[in-house]
Amino acid sequence: MRVVICGAGTAGCVTAARLSEDPGIEVVLLEAGPHYTPGNWPAELSHAFRIIKESHDWDYFAQAGASPRLVHVPRGRVVGGSSVTNATIALRGLPEHYDEWNDYVDGYDWTSWLPWFRAIERDVQFGDRDYHGDSGPIPITRYPRDDWYPLFERFAEAALRAGHRWTDDHNAPDAAGVGPTPFNMLDGIRQTPADHYLDPALTRPNLTLVSGVTCDRIRFSGQTAVGVEALAADGSQIAIDADHVIVALGTYASPALLMRSGVGPAEALTPHGIPLVHELGGVGNGMQDHPKVSYRFWIDTPIPAWPHPWIQVLLTAYGEVGGDPRLFQVMPYVGQDTAGHRFTEFNLQVADARGRTGTIRLQGRDPRLQPVLRMGWLEDDGDRTLSVVGGEELMRVAATAPLADVMVPWPNQDDPDHALRTVETFHHVVGSLRMGRADDPTAVVDADGRVLGLGGVYCFDASVIPRIPSANTHLAVIALAERLSAAFRGGSGTRAR
Ligand SMILES: Cc1cc2nc3c(=O)[nH]c(=O)nc-3n(C[C@H](O)[C@H](O)[C@H](O)COP(=O)(O)OP(=O)(O)OC[C@H]3O[C@@H](n4cnc5c(N)ncnc54)[C@H](O)[C@@H]3O)c2cc1C
Repeated sequence: MRVVICGAGTAGCVTAARLSEDPGIEVVLLEAGPHYTPGNWPAELSHAFRIIKESHDWDYFAQAGASPRLVHVPRGRVVGGSSVTNATIALRGLPEHYDEWNDYVDGYDWTSWLPWFRAIERDVQFGDRDYHGDSGPIPITRYPRDDWYPLFERFAEAALRAGHRWTDDHNAPDAAGVGPTPFNMLDGIRQTPADHYLDPALTRPNLTLVSGVTCDRIRFSGQTAVGVEALAADGSQIAIDADHVIVALGTYASPALLMRSGVGPAEALTPHGIPLVHELGGVGNGMQDHPKVSYRFWIDTPIPAWPHPWIQVLLTAYGEVGGDPRLFQVMPYVGQDTAGHRFTEFNLQVADARGRTGTIRLQGRDPRLQPVLRMGWLEDDGDRTLSVVGGEELMRVAATAPLADVMVPWPNQDDPDHALRTVETFHHVVGSLRMGRADDPTAVVDADGRVLGLGGVYCFDASVIPRIPSANTHLAVIALAERLSAAFRGGSGTRAR
């Protein structure tokens, strides 16, 4: 059986490694970006100190939504995908939001997820706790409090004095408060599915990685997939036969590939002359993200010379929206402007985001064109209210000693429109091909990641997530790809491990 996986990102690396464990499956993994072999990663990618958007990026821009701005929405273009360019923050989110997956599909409550989260990690500090793992592929570490910069120590102290509690483990099931940020890094070096899933698997004779090719579309016989068409770096066309196609191009590019293949809302395909293979109204609709609103302050406290970690500490707390407590995050970064002035950016993440306002459409039939992205951040009234409540709390912590003693806020941030004017992505887009039951007209894939109404087509990446987790999404995508790979191999992917 030959399986072609489109996209060697976070989900694609996990899936290729797991499926190729079965010698009866021939796996071909296609990726547009370059492949770096172990020990040959460029330094800017291998350190785990900040996000990378200047290189190895798709350079997508999106319309913000409520404010008519075009905003860069980075996505990694490299074997390893966005796991190689992200901030390496390794969080799970609240259990109750995984329970909500059961509103869409059966078998996905938190108790079914926990064994997968334990299986993917080697938590260096807390591996002995019963909700953590100590022998999975992805190492997780935190900076000890003794090593924090003075600014972050002041931040934690101010948050405690403002009434927040201390939490040593932000991945504990009931975690809220201030404490060290968990990272998928070891000694400052990024640890990704490319390193820990794909690279060891590439020695298998039944796994072939082809990098530098752009996946164009799925070829069908009737409504069953028979292969993939792609473009080589020189623009020439490649056709690869397949018994099954697993789409893992990420939340922006996976729906675009389905639409180019004739799968999606008819009105999104006909303007481009694409013949309809199967109408599925949910393709490219209902995308979710965590809106990010930044508040900047000049700081009068030392920061180390670059390269240094951006982030060490995290605050999570609840804000009330219509009587409902909803989680938000405050993550302080440190930096310097080009004149060498030190500043900190306090980033507010609308963690329990509920808006489903994002859409993805084709700009044209050519796979090299970026999709048309509309994010709709803060168009949902509840998300907007949470951004305001969270912003007020962030400012209250910033005005509390000993933080207040070293901070001067940038101007105009108390303007009531600050959030709407400046909102950006926290990079956690999901749900553009969301899971659901067969009778749900907005569903695209079933609980095993199979595209509804088609034969041999699956999607295993962040785009199938039906309810955004209340935290950064990388660990959730790794755990999801593990579950869906196990289901594909006939294991117990959708059930407990
Ligand atoms: C800048 C940034 C910072 C982030 N920070 C964090 C963080 O700190 N913590 C966290 O938990 N999450 C973070 N995230 C989110 C997290 O990284 C993603 O949720 C996760 O990596 C998504 O995995 P994926 O497999 O869905 O997509 P990706 O990992 O993006 O993989 C998609 C792959 O498909 C390839 N591809 C796309 N189109 C084509 C095509 N047409 N042909 C061939 N290949 C193609 C891409 O090059 C890529 O390799 C961040 C994301 C970004 C972009």
